[in-house]
Amino acid sequence: MSDKTVVSIEDNYHNRRLVRKILESSGFAVVEAEDGLSGLALVRQLRPPLVLLDIGLPDIDGLEVVRQIRADADLAGIKVIAISASAMRGDRELFLAAGCDDYLAKPIKVAELLHLVEAHWPAGQAIGA
Ligand code: CA
Repeated sequence: MSDKTVVSIEDNYHNRRLVRKILESSGFAVVEAEDGLSGLALVRQLRPPLVLLDIGLPDIDGLEVVRQIRADADLAGIKVIAISASAMRGDRELFLAAGCDDYLAKPIKVAELLHLVEAHWPAGQAIGA
């Protein structure tokens, strides 16, 4: 695994492509999953520094994904940023309470996504370069 690997769990093709484009142009390697269970399997396999997690997924939702990540001691330290179209009052608190480190509202904006990824990148892991 590259130290700059991000796992992107997102069922929408256009959002997946946008995330990939933004992160790859900043030097990250992006590995994608289209649903929650395959995303969890990827996270367990790769143990990436950071996961971008869509909340609305076709099988288990993103909240269940992050709960399972947080319940697994082997995955301790992985940063999880939720991405969701829903911007209801209280959503952010819900996502953080489930174990997410932060939350990005759709539509995804380049500067916001990069800022969040860099702000939460685990200490000691190379970034930039
Ligand atoms: Ca979705």
